[in-house]
Amino acid sequence: MKIRIAGMALFLCIPLVLYLYLAQPLGVLPSLGLGVLIMIGHRFLASPFSARHRPRRCLWCGRSIPIAQVSLALPVQGGKEISYKFCPPSSADCRVRWIGLHRLVLRHKHLIQFGIFIPVLAYLVLETARGAGHPQIPHEVSLALFKGIIAATVVSVSFGYLSHRPEEDNSIPPPAPFPFPLHNLSLLGAGWTLWIFRIVGMGWILQLINRMIRIF
Ligand SMILES: [Zn+2]
Repeated sequence: MKIRIAGMALFLCIPLVLYLYLAQPLGVLPSLGLGVLIMIGHRFLASPFSARHRPRRCLWCGRSIPIAQVSLALPVQGGKEISYKFCPPSSADCRVRWIGLHRLVLRHKHLIQFGIFIPVLAYLVLETARGAGHPQIPHEVSLALFKGIIAATVVSVSFGYLSHRPEEDNSIPPPAPFPFPLHNLSLLGAGWTLWIFRIVGMGWILQLINRMIRIF
């Protein structure tokens, strides 16, 4: 339980960064600056946490599992492999679900990277220009682009992995490294993280549709 709470606390840095970027409670430039600092610093806490608890936690659901449970060696950047644990196939299909997500993300790697990194980068550049007194487009428009593109990406991933699951549990690891930092997904467990992405993403899409209906 303590591990779950610590994982949640570390995960909360992600909504905190989003709050700083989007609501800008300290003013434009201080909020963006603090958000970027937290985003960069977060990996120095989250990555060791993930590595420390990896042998005893399911990567998909975050449940504590016996250290003797068979692990799956996943390829990581640099040509190495790291072993991750999953719930026993008899009690949950966590490993099958992970392989589905891993396959989907590998197949659509560039589209997903484009759908997350480009809107974040574009938003930070546009908002920094606005904060420095050189607005390029209205804040509402950069906010809508940020939320719209990211929400469409994460909601698609959160459903799309289901159709990439293997027919049955197997121990064949995906062929290439997962192209995003695994420590962020391991804080709550990848499955719970996808649920949060799904709910927040759908909320953002509904918000934008509501706004467009009001405008037109
Ligand atoms: Zn599990």
